[in-house]
Amino acid sequence: MSRRRPKRSLGQNFLVDPNLQRKIAGAVRAGEGDPVLEIGPGRGALTDHLARRGVALAAVELDDELAADLASRYRDDAGVTVVHGDVLSLDLPSLTGDWARTTVVGNIPYNITTPIVFRLLTLPYPADIVLTVQAEVAARMLSGPGTRTYGALTVGVAVHARASRICKVSRTAFRPVPGVDSTVVRLTPRSPPPLAPGEADRVRVLTRAAFSWRRKQLGTILSRHPDLGIPREIWSGVLASRSLSPTVRPEQLPPAEFVALSAMLGEGFGGVPVAPR
Ligand code: SAM
Repeated sequence: MSRRRPKRSLGQNFLVDPNLQRKIAGAVRAGEGDPVLEIGPGRGALTDHLARRGVALAAVELDDELAADLASRYRDDAGVTVVHGDVLSLDLPSLTGDWARTTVVGNIPYNITTPIVFRLLTLPYPADIVLTVQAEVAARMLSGPGTRTYGALTVGVAVHARASRICKVSRTAFRPVPGVDSTVVRLTPRSPPPLAPGEADRVRVLTRAAFSWRRKQLGTILSRHPDLGIPREIWSGVLASRSLSPTVRPEQLPPAEFVALSAMLGEGFGGVPVAPR
């Protein structure tokens, strides 16, 4: 396996602690022949454990040399397919044959955590997701209303999935040692999917707008945020019917409230048409 200099631009911090490698791979609830997609296998820290269990593994690696090394290492293993490409541009559901049953796992690069998470939580969903992310990002995913860490990422995850913490990972478990600690989280997409694609897009527009102005009051945000611009005569009735004051601030609203508001505000914002169910 390659021992070339790790590339910071690709977020290459390799997990060298064998107990954590076992623990993270063990959090994948997949047995022999079950589909698994690994994001960023790197030098194979998780890949080896998964391959030994006989899962049907597709491993997506962007780095040319690491992908070539992995392809040659698993050349004779019919259960492992190394895909050389960018996880953000590949058609992921086509990689495993049975996306609805696929578990996605990865110690993913910190700089593309949010786009990866939002991609995985866009329909169609995989069955389950196990990701090692920056501890501070995990705190935001696992947060709740009324706290400092509650925000667009919390709502964006909670609307689509149940999130739980698997374990903490000290920065010293990686080489090179990164500047932050990590947390392994499980995101289990909700079934059946709670929102049609158009509705999910609108909830995202509303949530992002709200938290980009998180110190402002909801009425002000709905009226004046450039992505919203909803007339008062529309939003005032909607807020009243939800027993919400226009002075409430975004961080006080639970995820379900963003979904309800988005549905009730109808076609009046975001420019995203409501998709038929
Ligand atoms: N899984 C390995 C481990 O735990 O030691 C490597 C983890 S390292 C944090 C992230 C890996 O993702 C690297 O191997 C890197 O080359 C790869 N990577 C970075 N950007 C990627 C992308 N857009 N698509 C696929 N893989 C990517």
